[in-house]
Amino acid sequence: MRLVFASNNEHKLSEVRGIMPIGIEVLSLREIGFDREIEETGATLAENSLIKAKAVWDYVQTGNARSVKDIDGIFADDTGLEIDALNREPGVYTARWYKKEPTISLPAGKEMKEADIFAANRAKALRELQGKTDRGAQFRTVITLINLKQEIMCVEGVVRGKIATEEYGEGGFGYDPIFIPEGYNKTFGELPVKVKNSISHRARALEALVRELRIEK
Ligand code: IMP
Repeated sequence: MRLVFASNNEHKLSEVRGIMPIGIEVLSLREIGFDREIEETGATLAENSLIKAKAVWDYVQTGNARSVKDIDGIFADDTGLEIDALNREPGVYTARWYKKEPTISLPAGKEMKEADIFAANRAKALRELQGKTDRGAQFRTVITLINLKQEIMCVEGVVRGKIATEEYGEGGFGYDPIFIPEGYNKTFGELPVKVKNSISHRARALEALVRELRIEK
């Protein structure tokens, strides 16, 4: 089976490739020649994952995509961090939560580097939870797949955990250095990738996707 992963996020791509079972090949957007940014304008994770999968599906239909002759579908992942004490915020704003921070200003025309955005998001989470005893949180990943018959499949995966009081570890990406998954006393930033990939929100969503695809066949 060959699937296109509709994401420009290299970290997600590498995790997805590490998690997918043998027999399911994952093509990147670069490999099929898709080089646009997709605007995530949805109100929910499910809407955003559908927007991303649909944008790439449309591109494949134009006939301009490379290496897509034998593909079986296109899937996208949208992920949110949901913090209990903050009413499940940042949720759908997880990627750009730092922008809700009035103290962060950028010189006009200057783009922040990905690592700086991740750091600003983590700093905001730690600030928002300062002095709070309830540090419970979860990551939720929603995956939407569109097959060649334009049938849509939507699955999700959740991992519960808590937000650390400071950053630990350099592994992973995004909020990983401040997220301690349930059953562990280390953050995703400290735990080996193999461990993250066996229990993560993304791993659970992909397991659900693979189950559905096998039932379909
Ligand atoms: P999106 O799913 O592309 O909207 O990404 C949401 C944001 O969530 C990313 O920019 C990261 O900051 C964060 N994120 C997504 N997946 C993970 C993860 O596995 N660990 C930590 N942060 C993540």
